[in-house]
Amino acid sequence: MKLAETGRFLKNFGFSRNTLVVTDKNAGRLYAGTVLKSLRRAGFNPSAVTLEPGEKHKNISSVAKIYGSAVKAGLDRKSAIIALGGGVVGDLAGFAAATFMRGVPFVQLPTTLLAMVDSSVGGKTGFDLKEGKNLAGAFCQPKAVLIDLSTLKTLPARHVANGMAEVIKYGVIMDAEFFDYLEKKAGEGWDLEKIVFRSLELKASVVEKDEFEEKGLREILNFGHTFGHACETLSGYGPVLHGEAVAAGMAAAAGLSVKLGRMTAGESARLKNLLKKAGLPAEFKKKFKPSEILKVMLRDKKTRNGRLRLVLPSRIGKAEVVSGVPEKIIREVL
Ligand code: ADP
Ligand code: ZN
Repeated sequence: MKLAETGRFLKNFGFSRNTLVVTDKNAGRLYAGTVLKSLRRAGFNPSAVTLEPGEKHKNISSVAKIYGSAVKAGLDRKSAIIALGGGVVGDLAGFAAATFMRGVPFVQLPTTLLAMVDSSVGGKTGFDLKEGKNLAGAFCQPKAVLIDLSTLKTLPARHVANGMAEVIKYGVIMDAEFFDYLEKKAGEGWDLEKIVFRSLELKASVVEKDEFEEKGLREILNFGHTFGHACETLSGYGPVLHGEAVAAGMAAAAGLSVKLGRMTAGESARLKNLLKKAGLPAEFKKKFKPSEILKVMLRDKKTRNGRLRLVLPSRIGKAEVVSGVPEKIIREVL
C-alpha cells in the first residue's frame, strides 16, 4: 500500500474526524506531509506530534507529550492515534492509544524494517525504564497496519540490518526453509517484499495462538531477547540498536544450547555466519560483567519466581522455552 492512500483506507473504519499522527523527526520530515495530506483529503482533521528519534526517548516523557497533543487535538474515544515511524514511535503511540481516555483506536504505519516485520504486529506497546527495557506497557492491538515498502528506500543500511535480526530469528525458531533461503540470499541484496511478507505470516501465526503470552507459545519470539535486552539496558539505550543486541543475544543463546548438549556446534555456527553476513554482531562487543548481565536478566518479564526462562534453539527451525538453566553455565557462556 502507498502512504498516500492512508486516508482513503482509514475512511471505512468509522473513526472520528479528529485524529493524531505520532511521528519522530526523521520519519516525520520524510513522510508526515504525505500522510496528513491524504488524511485531510479523506475528510479527517489530523494533528501531528513529532517526537525526538531513537530508543533513548522511549520513555514516559514522550508518552506525556503524546497525551498533551491528544488533548489539544480534541480526540474523542473514537479518534484514532496513528503511529508513523519505526518501532519506537509505534510502541509509544500504541501505549498512549491503550491508555488515553482508557483506550482509543490505534493504527500503525511502520517505516522501518524492524517495525514492519515485528513490532507493528502483535499488540505489544510500552516504554523503557532505566532499570529495564520495555518494563512498562500494555497490550493494544492496532485496528490496521498499513505497510508502504517504498519507505525502506530511505532507511540507512544499519537499520536494515537491525530489522534483519528479527527476520533471522523467525528462521531459527520456526522455519528452517526460510533460514535456508536467507542463507542463499545473504550478500546478494534482500528481497524485502518477500521477507516482510513471510516474517509477518510467521509472527501472526504465533500471536494468533497466544495473544497475551500465557500459553508458552508466544514466548519463543523472545529468542535472543533476554540476553539482548540486558545488553541494551546496560548500554543505556541507543548506542547498541535493538536488532544488534538481539543478534548477539541469539548467538549467546545458541552457544548456551550447544553447551547444554541441546544443539550441534555446526547449527550454531550457521546462525553466527548468517548474522555476520547480514551485517550484525555475533557477540557482545562491549564487555559487561557476567554478574551484571545476570542481574538485569533476572528482571526480565519472563522470569517466574526468580527463575529465568530462556528460549533455546534445538536446531535451525526449532526452539523451546527452558527454565532452570544453572546460573553457573549461563555465566560461563557470557
Ligand atoms: P526501530 O524501528 O528500529 O525500533 P526507531 O523507531 O528508533 O527504531 O527507528 C530507527 C531510526 O530510523 C530512527 O532514527 C527513525 O527516526 C529513523 N527512521 C524511521 N523510518 C525511517 C525511514 N523510512 N527512512 C529513514 N529513517 C527512518
Ligand atoms: Zn525484538
